[in-house]
Amino acid sequence: MIPFLDLQAGYNELKVEIDLAVQRVMESGCYILGPEVLAFEREWADFCYSTYAIGVANGMDALCLALHAMGVVNGDEVIVPSNTYIATWLAVSHCGAIPVPVEPDELTYNIDHRKIESAITSKTKVIIPVHLYGQPADLDPIIEIAQKHDLLVLEDAAQAHGARYKGRRIGSHGDAVAWSFYPGKNLGAHGDGGAVTTDNLEIFERIKALRNYGSRYKYVNDLKGFNSRLDPLQAAILRTKLPYLDNWNSRRIAVAQMYTNHLHNIGLSLPCVANWASPVWHQYVVRCKNRENFQEKLACSGVPTLIHYPIPPYSQVAYSNDDYLSESFPITNRLSNEIISLPIGPHMPPSDLELIINNVKSSIGS
Ligand SMILES: *Cc1c(COP(=O)(O)O)cnc(C)c1O
Repeated sequence: MIPFLDLQAGYNELKVEIDLAVQRVMESGCYILGPEVLAFEREWADFCYSTYAIGVANGMDALCLALHAMGVVNGDEVIVPSNTYIATWLAVSHCGAIPVPVEPDELTYNIDHRKIESAITSKTKVIIPVHLYGQPADLDPIIEIAQKHDLLVLEDAAQAHGARYKGRRIGSHGDAVAWSFYPGKNLGAHGDGGAVTTDNLEIFERIKALRNYGSRYKYVNDLKGFNSRLDPLQAAILRTKLPYLDNWNSRRIAVAQMYTNHLHNIGLSLPCVANWASPVWHQYVVRCKNRENFQEKLACSGVPTLIHYPIPPYSQVAYSNDDYLSESFPITNRLSNEIISLPIGPHMPPSDLELIINNVKSSIGS
């Protein structure tokens, strides 16, 4: 079976450098925060064209701490996509706030800005666009709506490292941007990791305190904070991998280009890319009417596929006591029944890619 994503191949390519980085931390005697985390924060902020970066424990904490820093409290409402990974919603829920779902644009799979205004109430504080599958959401109209209604914008960029919106890298369009370095992401650690980037000094200082018990000075606690620090081992590994990110993304782009060239006109709906978007193809998601049959045939021919995501957050048992009506989200329901993600990654051998393309063609036709 071809791997859906070969993480070991990623390690093997950079083994010498990664092993040295790990050794550097082991020998430093500094195992919490310290110079590696500070250096990664500087390098990540620079990469994203943002003023500040704060390393945290994972992507969900990045969202959660950013929401706290933005002043989101019990009973507030936060606008989220109806078709995102559940972490976006859980971060809102853990602040005591209510996720208010907005349906996606059916072509780009990203939040439909034309539907945001009717979801705003007097309790709304923040809008969270998610750059799903590595495709930037249409940020300008979203930021315009936020400014008009005095709301903040927190981007969930967990799938969009290096993606560009109107030529500028994701990382500083909204008031804050949350990142995950989960191993399978475009920039992945060898364990959990996350970060927030922002140009806003107040948000930066609050998150920096919040991730470390709400403390700015040791044993002086200004906020009821958390323990959510980026591990210096992961920071050192991320520093090693960051210079390769654009190159690894370009390999994903090449795989996506091959899929797009070879899989049109065979009865699949291929991803649509807006003319202002430079996606980094965290996933290559197609739509197919007879998905279960298609997926089964592909599996039999040795091609693994995944569904991102099979159950929308509002249909999960975790949210069964919150009054969401599945009928209110026809587009998300349709997508979750038809989408399927083909294997994509920076280490896919050309022979695997060719085999996948041939098997997709034969599995869709019959
Ligand atoms: C991965 C992901 C997260 C959560 O990141 P973790 O580091 O796993 O906590 C949040 N939002 C989206 C869209 C993601 O893909």
